[in-house]
Amino acid sequence: MSTNIRRKALLVIGANKNPFAEVEFPTTKCVNEIFGKYCFGENVQRERLSPKVFKSLQETIRQGKTLDSGIADEVAAAMLKWALELGVTHFTHWFQPMTGSTAEKHDCFIEPRGDGLPIAKFRGGELIRGEPDASSFPSGGLRATFEARGYTAWDPTSPAFVLKHDNGATLVIPTIFVSWTGEALDKKTPLLRSGAALQEQALRILRLFGNKTANRIESTMGAEQEYFLVDRRLAALRPDLLVTGRTLFGAKPPRGQELEDNYFGAIPERVLKFMTDVEKELLDLGVPIKTRHNEVAPGQFELAPMFETANLATDHQMLIMRTLKSVAARHGFLCVLHEKPFAGVNGSGKHNNWSLGTDEGENLLEPGDTPGENAQFLVFCTAVLRAVHKYGHLLRMSVCGAGNDHRLGANEAPPAIISVFLGGALDEVYAQLAAGSLTPGSKAAPLEIGVTLLPPISRHSGDRNRTSPFAFTGNKFEFRAVGSSQNPAGSTTVINTIVAESLDYMATKLEAAVAKGEDFKAAVRNLVIETVKEHKDIIFSGDCYSQAWKEEAAKRGLPNLVSTVDCLPHINSKESIALFSKYKVYSDVELNSRFEIIGDNYITIINIESSTAVEVASTLILPAAFRYKESLQKTATTSPQKGLLDKLDGQIDALIISLETLRAKKAGFPDGETQERANYCRDKILPAMLELRKAVDALEETVDDDLWPLPTYTEMLFAY
Ligand code: ADP
Ligand code: MG
Repeated sequence: MSTNIRRKALLVIGANKNPFAEVEFPTTKCVNEIFGKYCFGENVQRERLSPKVFKSLQETIRQGKTLDSGIADEVAAAMLKWALELGVTHFTHWFQPMTGSTAEKHDCFIEPRGDGLPIAKFRGGELIRGEPDASSFPSGGLRATFEARGYTAWDPTSPAFVLKHDNGATLVIPTIFVSWTGEALDKKTPLLRSGAALQEQALRILRLFGNKTANRIESTMGAEQEYFLVDRRLAALRPDLLVTGRTLFGAKPPRGQELEDNYFGAIPERVLKFMTDVEKELLDLGVPIKTRHNEVAPGQFELAPMFETANLATDHQMLIMRTLKSVAARHGFLCVLHEKPFAGVNGSGKHNNWSLGTDEGENLLEPGDTPGENAQFLVFCTAVLRAVHKYGHLLRMSVCGAGNDHRLGANEAPPAIISVFLGGALDEVYAQLAAGSLTPGSKAAPLEIGVTLLPPISRHSGDRNRTSPFAFTGNKFEFRAVGSSQNPAGSTTVINTIVAESLDYMATKLEAAVAKGEDFKAAVRNLVIETVKEHKDIIFSGDCYSQAWKEEAAKRGLPNLVSTVDCLPHINSKESIALFSKYKVYSDVELNSRFEIIGDNYITIINIESSTAVEVASTLILPAAFRYKESLQKTATTSPQKGLLDKLDGQIDALIISLETLRAKKAGFPDGETQERANYCRDKILPAMLELRKAVDALEETVDDDLWPLPTYTEMLFAY
């Protein structure tokens, strides 16, 4: 029998299909009972707070009123009592630093009493503010070491929750994370600021259309999450996957996604158990999980929640990623959230579905049933088009990162060129608007904004263009370029801000027209036509994966920011600083810090990847190749057999040479500025890694399978 450790892992997996604990399937009835069981949501608040405090807290949550800090003590006491009943021992402020993940530092509730016996305490002050020792979170120079402190501040709009683990539980309080001087050190603070900017501008438009009653407008978000599952026993044998989140080597499997039989296929039993467990945990926490299915690639799956306000949806997204990972470990899987874990196989994204909703329940991107509603819809929709056209490069920047670079434009994901897909009926409407003439006779005609009905636009039309990075899907836009591992706050912050700028522009024009006594309907009509004419180049309905589109997009002057390196200058460009500071989303100092952090992160990732590649190739692959050579030398007698040996020699030489090249490039790493070092990564390190990969992958197809140390693509994608 083989002594190969990989083979042993496979034997175990094959022999014991479902080694994991039975999972209880929640029934629909029980979903009602468990939903939000571990969440200090509205119902629990109503039940456990005095009516006065409940009302005050709800006003902050629902109407955005400033938090009355006088209520903090009562809320904290109620939270403590509720949490203790659930077996909680610790609490933590939970925040989203610029590492891209979440951070927490647990504090015990217990404190000594006068008589020496400990009691459980949780004060309002502890609820409202925390001071994590934050000196090792990235700040991009925002905090000099002498003032290395940041503090966390309670975000009451996102309810606290209890996270259970095997032998304990923690009360988790969502917070924002800022420096003493008020700079945002996290991803949530800019998101909240962008929401405020968007609301202010969107309300101006609503008022112009005569809506006097809506008080709040919030961006809504539903993020579809794609991920891979790999059996842990195989993943453990892949240092590249464990360390970098993706495979740095691996020959193309004989069968990938060509059969297209995985998409929406039957979910394997073991995976279904995992998903059920994930959903149960998320429902407990009040995360409204809705759909699950197989994705395009083998071993790839998707989960989507129901949409919520962007702030809450962001926190829930972070919980989704965390839960996927922790539950996967329990089920013997590694959950891989990287954007491109397997070369040549479909990557993973996180489609950010974005819309605007009022506190009266109106979706502002829903084409209405009356001419007036339709005119208002056209203003909002046109504002989005204008925003994406003017600031497409900022949208691309919002999803940059070493991982997503491998996915965008890789022929199964939207390209790095940002365009908008409108679809069927709306396409016709916008073609007419762009032509400036309202052609009678066409399906959409005659179109008279504010007078005539738009042609019916089906929310569930099968009319989809999956190649488009920014697609209108009936009553929302779907931004598909977001990477599967990314915190969606970054992209939502940019969408909110650029749309706020567009709405500002349109509201200013319309208000001026009204002030001059112009007819409002005519003013809307003129503004929409004029704006569409100027920005129609952003609309594209064809195949965004094609070479023809690349060329056409260049002609239209749409930027194609292929890599993170190309995106970096746009983070703190003059234009970016002017835009984000005008709407008080990021200050210049904050943008400069993001430039440093995002640049550094890119460089660090590529450094780690290249070091891992060198290590794996020299300590695992090269020895395996030599072992195989030894056995061939012993047995090869005929000339074709010796030919095999020659071929192997050539492949080993190629491996050694590419290893040396990569080592040399790493040794020659420049000391310069962030941009220079990032350029070096893209121009020198990544190509050398690719050469090394070619050499390793060629050997994988030659060397005795019994000697090959790394689980193959086929094994990782198909064995569970
Ligand atoms: P599809 O994209 O296939 O049409 P759905 O209609 O279920 O699928 O929507 C996908 C995602 O879009 C879900 O997460 C859903 O909650 C979200 N979504 C639906 N409506 C909105 C909205 N108004 N704002 C933000 N997200 C939304
Ligand atoms: Mg979708």
